[in-house]
Amino acid sequence: MSEKVEKTEEEWRAQLTEEQYHITREHGTERAFTGEYHDCKDPGMYHCVCCGAALFSSETKYDSRSGWPSFYEPADDENVETKEDGSLGMARTEVLCAKCDAHLGHVFPDGPRPTGLRYCINSASLELKKPEGA
Ligand SMILES: [Zn+2]
Repeated sequence: MSEKVEKTEEEWRAQLTEEQYHITREHGTERAFTGEYHDCKDPGMYHCVCCGAALFSSETKYDSRSGWPSFYEPADDENVETKEDGSLGMARTEVLCAKCDAHLGHVFPDGPRPTGLRYCINSASLELKKPEGA
């Protein structure tokens, strides 16, 4: 099993932009249709912007028209954690990076087959790395 990435608030602030920090470390949400990746169709792997863990493959990304990058499945279940979130008076399931506890977004049960899930993820939590040679 991999080790957890732990950093102080100052270290995260130094590494991340203000928006990335707000979303990943303070559980923020970017405004719909404003993120870098909501309409991105480039192939590659989306990594955690905080620790670099591989989170979602472009192969499982689909257009949910929600205004946020949406995936129906994590690239690796070991790298993605979910947790019940009762904030805002709604029962939602939060999606977190398993390695560094970065807040990524939420998962909803209205996605496409085969999983029926919609991982609704903030662009600011992600960094797309294109495949080698692309
Ligand atoms: Zn991470």
